[in-house]
Amino acid sequence: MRAIKLTDVGNVQEVEAERPSMRHGDVLIEVAAAGVCQTDVMVRAAGTALVPIGTTLGHEIAGRIVEIADDVVGAAVGNNVVVYPVWACGACVMCVSGRQNACRASGGRLRVPPSPGMSRDGGMADLVSVPARWTVPADGVDPALAAVLPDAGLVPFHAINDQLHLLRPGSTAVVVGVGGLGQFAIAILRALTSARIIAVDTSAQSLEAVAGRVDLTVAASDPDAVAKIVESTGGYGAEMVLDFVGVDATLALAARVVTPYGAIRVPGLGGGTFEFETAKGSRQLPFGASLARTYSGTLQDLVELVALARAGRLEVDLARYPFADALRAFDDLARGAVRGRAVLIR
Ligand SMILES: [Zn+2]
Ligand SMILES: [Zn+2]
Repeated sequence: MRAIKLTDVGNVQEVEAERPSMRHGDVLIEVAAAGVCQTDVMVRAAGTALVPIGTTLGHEIAGRIVEIADDVVGAAVGNNVVVYPVWACGACVMCVSGRQNACRASGGRLRVPPSPGMSRDGGMADLVSVPARWTVPADGVDPALAAVLPDAGLVPFHAINDQLHLLRPGSTAVVVGVGGLGQFAIAILRALTSARIIAVDTSAQSLEAVAGRVDLTVAASDPDAVAKIVESTGGYGAEMVLDFVGVDATLALAARVVTPYGAIRVPGLGGGTFEFETAKGSRQLPFGASLARTYSGTLQDLVELVALARAGRLEVDLARYPFADALRAFDDLARGAVRGRAVLIR
């Protein structure tokens, strides 16, 4: 079979690979579509200790079950599924309370459970074997959209769903960075809440792409960006700020537009630092506001997100590439030329 592998640091290639072996509890999936993430581009550029050379990439997977291990119950050949990418232990206190993304068997407080396409071969291949327990039924969802739900959709869904109580009628949500994940955030906010939505981005093109789906677009380069956002909320700021960029400038903007007791959630991995100031006249965070990084989502989040997709409630842009053109998808993503989320179709 064909597979797209990290063949060396700086190098990803489509190569001939062996049919995946099945472990206890596995199902074999014939891949229909696989999303391409900035993480894959980062892995290609720099390698990482987590991704051994020779690994098949791809942590966004949709396809059809074509074989099941003897001991598997609850999955059947022919089912269309997506793959939950957080392969947690399922038994620790965090897992049993529904927070698989904070599993206590990950190896430490700053570590996360294994994912396909990282520590084990992923979905950019004709076939992939995955634990049956981490598959989610996805019949009735376009495979291209289904494929990107487990990461590009799940990350914003979790960040929003976890603080959903803040988004009452009359509230405002600010989405900073409206690429693949930001577009999902907008669609999810529209589906789950009546909050006003403000989109912020450095790219005029990205803002244009979402202009019809939000209440206000603000150019990040606008020197009055903060003032415009705060003014549009009646002077008190936004209940939720989602920062999909995570650099110094976006974190500072988030602090200056969030409302008291509002939430800043930062899935972005831009390497920024946040200045936490406790002086009486602080111009940073208002009282009560919270700030947290977020990682992936829970299994329940993914099941609910698939339901939203099945109901036709997720309007997002997908850049579709045939599998044979995978390297072009990587290159386009690396130079910021993808509108929405990139996905490989078999
Ligand atoms: Zn990813
Ligand atoms: Zn666990």
